[in-house]
Amino acid sequence: MKIYLDMDGVVADLKWTMDMSVGHWAALEKLPWATQLVRMCTKYSDEGLAFLTAGMDGRCYDGKEIWAKKHFPNVPVIYAKRKGALASHNTVLVDDLQHNLSAFELAGGWGIHMPKFWGKRVTPYFVTSLVERQLKTIRRTMYAKS
Ligand SMILES: [Mg+2]
Repeated sequence: MKIYLDMDGVVADLKWTMDMSVGHWAALEKLPWATQLVRMCTKYSDEGLAFLTAGMDGRCYDGKEIWAKKHFPNVPVIYAKRKGALASHNTVLVDDLQHNLSAFELAGGWGIHMPKFWGKRVTPYFVTSLVERQLKTIRRTMYAKS
């Protein structure tokens, strides 16, 4: 399966400010579970793993590129305003925005919702296993013999 990970709210801690510079996007904190989540997803993504971000503008794209190179140099970044365009029967999108998941699922892909934890002190293990359980179920369904 191929896995796309949204960035803001999934691996990067988006803080809204008036500063929308390249530096702002490049300096976002990594979410506490990001490393473990990416490592786990790598295990399942035998057909590829990439970050998939809608971005806002060129400064955002440049900042996200710097961020990914710094924290996850082996994971490419794909920019798409309409994430559904990348959906297929063997692709999974992990995203915190329901409308992205709906579009992805409507286009034939699989969606996993990343909840917002609103300051709850969840462990990296908790978040990673939440996603992993769903990946396992999807994989079983995806490759089931009909
Ligand atoms: Mg997001």
